[in-house]
Amino acid sequence: MKTIGLIGGMSWQSTVPYYRLINEIVSQKLGGLHSAKLILWNMDFEAIASLQRQDRWLEAGEVMADAALRLQQAGAESIVICTNTMHKLVPDMQPHLQIPILHIADATAQVIRQAGLRKVGLLGTRFTMEDSFYVSHLREHYGLEVITPDAAARQLVHNVIFNELCVGEEKATSRAQYREIMAALVQQGAEGIIFGCTEIAMLVDQTDAAVPVFDTTTLHASYAAEWALA
Ligand code: GLU
Repeated sequence: MKTIGLIGGMSWQSTVPYYRLINEIVSQKLGGLHSAKLILWNMDFEAIASLQRQDRWLEAGEVMADAALRLQQAGAESIVICTNTMHKLVPDMQPHLQIPILHIADATAQVIRQAGLRKVGLLGTRFTMEDSFYVSHLREHYGLEVITPDAAARQLVHNVIFNELCVGEEKATSRAQYREIMAALVQQGAEGIIFGCTEIAMLVDQTDAAVPVFDTTTLHASYAAEWALA
């Protein structure tokens, strides 16, 4: 079994399921008392979110590369970034490393393609929905057509993530709004919905959408566990 280096804390609410899922899969596959070999570097998310808000991505990239290097030095054989948004910085991080970053969009898109879908709706932070790093990865590497909610709905999805989910609040009103936003994406032809933020599955699940949903937290965690065991 190989050792995984997790960069977590963004937010810590979604790092908990990563830790649990990776261990559950290793335990299921190997049986007995087996558990995952992993190292966790937990960020102080206030500092990271502040850099995001100020568009200081260069500095954020340096902080992320530093975290990945520390994990590599500690013996990690791959890096798992436990947030979709910070995959924006993969191109800044990877050149510093001798070990691979297991990309969350690869983990997700491979399962979407296996399901035979081509057009998907994407929910996430405004960075993930509006910057090109995520959508173009899905399009260029997997031929997926990605649609996002309108500007007002994108803002709502983003605010719920940062103001509620990242601090552990799950509100029925927000769940109802997410349901409406997903229904609108289905109306526009989405054959599936990507929960492209690692906290979204705290609020909604498959019962809230009329099409298959793809939770990036679950998919990324199982991709990492399979990689460690391969
Ligand atoms: N965890 C979220 C994501 O998957 C948002 C936190 C962040 O901005 O990194 O994008």
